[in-house]
Amino acid sequence: MPQSILRLSIPNLPQEAIDRTVAVLRSGQLVHGAEGEAFEAELAQHLGARHAVLVSSGTAALHLALMALGIGAGDSVLVPNFTFPATGNVVKLVGAQPVLVDVDPSSYCITPASASAALGRWRSRRDGTRLRAVIPVHEFGHPADMVELSAWAEKEGLVVIEDAACAIGAQSGGRPVGTFGAVGCFSLHPRKTLTTGEGGLLISDSGDLVRRLRRLRSHGMERTSAGMVFHEAGYNYRLTNLQSALGRAQLPHLGDWIAARRELATSYHEALQSFAASGYLIRPASCEGHSWQTYMVVLADWLDRAAVIKALAADGIEGNLGAQCLSELPPFHGLAASEDDMRHARRLYRQGLALPFCEQYGSEEVGRVVAALGRAIELSQRSA
Ligand SMILES: *Cc1c(COP(=O)(O)O)cnc(C)c1O
Repeated sequence: MPQSILRLSIPNLPQEAIDRTVAVLRSGQLVHGAEGEAFEAELAQHLGARHAVLVSSGTAALHLALMALGIGAGDSVLVPNFTFPATGNVVKLVGAQPVLVDVDPSSYCITPASASAALGRWRSRRDGTRLRAVIPVHEFGHPADMVELSAWAEKEGLVVIEDAACAIGAQSGGRPVGTFGAVGCFSLHPRKTLTTGEGGLLISDSGDLVRRLRRLRSHGMERTSAGMVFHEAGYNYRLTNLQSALGRAQLPHLGDWIAARRELATSYHEALQSFAASGYLIRPASCEGHSWQTYMVVLADWLDRAAVIKALAADGIEGNLGAQCLSELPPFHGLAASEDDMRHARRLYRQGLALPFCEQYGSEEVGRVVAALGRAIELSQRSA
């Protein structure tokens, strides 16, 4: 009997999310309204920040963070070389220059050591820019070591902008990610654990910064008793009331979903033990506070990832690469100064394999994936 296709992940929309969205449709209050305001308050509370600002995507959140902090032409910003391209794109879009930082081969995040090394290389280039900020990414939900990184950034005089796009609910040293930097950015895209379709948000404790973010989100405008005042050129990066209704209904489940994801990661870790021992792949590092948005293994160099993905697909299993190595992409060509900026990022980009992973999956799915992966590895060895 043919088995159903095992997708990389499936959005989890409780009935309540659908009911609430329908209620918003009937209310006629589609764009701005009570759902958005309540969702912001609930998110701030849940994520441990004074303020939350909803926007139309994770990319919009990162873009607004840079704008609101006044980062632009003549500035440089440290960015992980292994991430989703949006992290680097926004730096270019404000006219600043990304400085690529290699990542740790098992957490997939930057470390104070790799950031220091990239800073040293940037310094020796003497390119005339001012190094202003660092954007640590909590890759796939693995928290970057924010205690160490924050201390390091402070010593170097750098602003910290956390790209927690895929890490809602993760913690570093027991404290929620997104609360360490001047601002934390999150995505609510369907590949993330909590989704509004497209969507994103920023959190911050700074009232001044949040005021600027809110303005830039909506045409540079503020409503006063005298009416609308247009202070500066802004965007329309608002999230709709409809989307907020979807997200609000999921938020009370987030803790349980992350707990289920942690269990699933443990199941994979155990089921992949023999592949790891045989040197076919490396399993992702686990740590306290990991929120497990994606489970990505790294295949041995002598395995052909495209062949593995194809063989998995033939067994009804969706597999994909995890994230990109920016220095391998046209917008960032020429930015990496040396092999040292790329060593691990490049291998993770070429050999990383994301496996089906979401809170709706359990040991049955893990069994199917691991059996298919065994066949796929055998096939791609034979053809090698
Ligand atoms: C998903 C993601 C983004 C982009 O978020 P969107 O909501 O798709 O714009 C940015 N950075 C990282 C690390 C991501 O995983």
